[in-house]
Amino acid sequence: MVYLVGAGPGDPGLMTRRSLELIASADAILYDRLIPPGALDGARPEAELRYVGKEPGAAALTQDETNALIVEMGRAGKRVVRLKGGDPFVFGRGGEEAEALAAAGVPFEVVPGVTAGVAAPAYAGIPVTHRDLASAVAFVTGHEDPDKPESALDWDALARFPGTLVLYMGIRNLPLIAERLTAAGRDPQEAVAVVERGTHPGQRTVVDTLAGIAARAGAEEIRAPAITLVGPVAGLRDTIAWLERRPLHGEVVAVTRARAQASGLAARLRELGAEVVESPAIRIEPRPLDGELLEAVRRIGDYALVCLTSPNGVRLLFDALVETDQDARALAGATLAAIGPGTAAELERRGLRADVLPERFVAEALVEALEPIAVEGRRVLVARAAEARDVLPDGLRERGAAVDVVALYETVAEPLGEDGAMALGRATHVTFTSSSTVRFLVEALDGATLGEARVVSIGPVTSETLRSHGIEPDVEARRHDIDGLVEALVGDSP
Ligand code: SAH
Repeated sequence: MVYLVGAGPGDPGLMTRRSLELIASADAILYDRLIPPGALDGARPEAELRYVGKEPGAAALTQDETNALIVEMGRAGKRVVRLKGGDPFVFGRGGEEAEALAAAGVPFEVVPGVTAGVAAPAYAGIPVTHRDLASAVAFVTGHEDPDKPESALDWDALARFPGTLVLYMGIRNLPLIAERLTAAGRDPQEAVAVVERGTHPGQRTVVDTLAGIAARAGAEEIRAPAITLVGPVAGLRDTIAWLERRPLHGEVVAVTRARAQASGLAARLRELGAEVVESPAIRIEPRPLDGELLEAVRRIGDYALVCLTSPNGVRLLFDALVETDQDARALAGATLAAIGPGTAAELERRGLRADVLPERFVAEALVEALEPIAVEGRRVLVARAAEARDVLPDGLRERGAAVDVVALYETVAEPLGEDGAMALGRATHVTFTSSSTVRFLVEALDGATLGEARVVSIGPVTSETLRSHGIEPDVEARRHDIDGLVEALVGDSP
């Protein structure tokens, strides 16, 4: 069985449910260049992934070869997904592939996709039809050989077309297209929009008149893939553009925290319009459950106060409780202190409310917040990372507490790799959410710098570590948590 599947215009969120199901169950996926980032992430590890698109310059497979390949794989009884950008039957040559399959008697299914000609304008704030402005829309190929004397397109008909013209593949020919349309009688003052990389975080849009658009797109260095839209609906963009008005649109933000912890921050940044590149500098490595740690966990019921200094700490402490045949009730008698809202939320997820939560999320503030709690002569457990500062245990000991400090995990270096380094190189902002992200990233950079990127720090301790490595933070969060970091980033963007 062969599936001719549209992957949508680029935003992974615009892939259909059916396309994801098929990708997840395919034996083989034959894909083109313009598929969304991460589109193949859900494929089975043993699936054969094969690029069959055309690289500008280098020829991969000819269309005949692709047709033959699909037929052959389909005949062999494989579940083959032929994955194409946008919709497979809109300038995707999917029609030709379906013809070849039909001729060979290979069963197939067609899965439509969101086509760029509708989606890119929509993300630019342009509806392709409108009750007052356009009652029809034409999808047109702009990929004409300029040297060909006979055009496949009827320019007179297009000039007279009573509605919006949406041109695919027309960027190189834009001057010619504008000239032909005006020569055939289309109004040179009509509005035209060109949307580059529509629905991607880096989407750009230029608007001008039919007479001026070629020069404008040239000056702005608009490149393929781009959709050109001719029609008065382009003017609606002034009112309803939305994507490009998001506060972090156009920014490329690098997240250096551990991959396992990055998703929350990454999602927030994406919602605000940023392109997020993950270049984790650290990884969390749980400590083996033995020695002092095992002893402390077994006797956790003896502690009057338990302090948790990170969401990871909560997670691993609960893993340790399970491993020692205990559950949340072991903490029933203890006062619980969390360093910040992320840690408190992790406790809450397990049915426990933090009794103490400081207003500023640093160890010094936690020491202060603990002042009303009687600790003298009582047993206190500080469960944390191996390499944490001693502000909290020292502060509690000064007040006469018997403090046990146990390390639940260690923060270790995550190699940056070529991809990570490349991603970092494109960043307009690099975020640091802890001193360890600073130390390990500097180590991974191995002498390289962060270039022009703005350096965003979660708080004073991280900033100090940055300075000690010769990096001056450009922005420091006022609230020392993820929300505060995001707020600082938004404040720093034009
Ligand atoms: N089957 C695809 C179109 C393939 S032709 C679809 O339905 O969308 C390739 C052309 O599609 C490009 O030259 C460009 O004009 C357009 N295109 C594809 N992705 C695009 C995007 N993200 N933004 C703007 N145009 C895009």
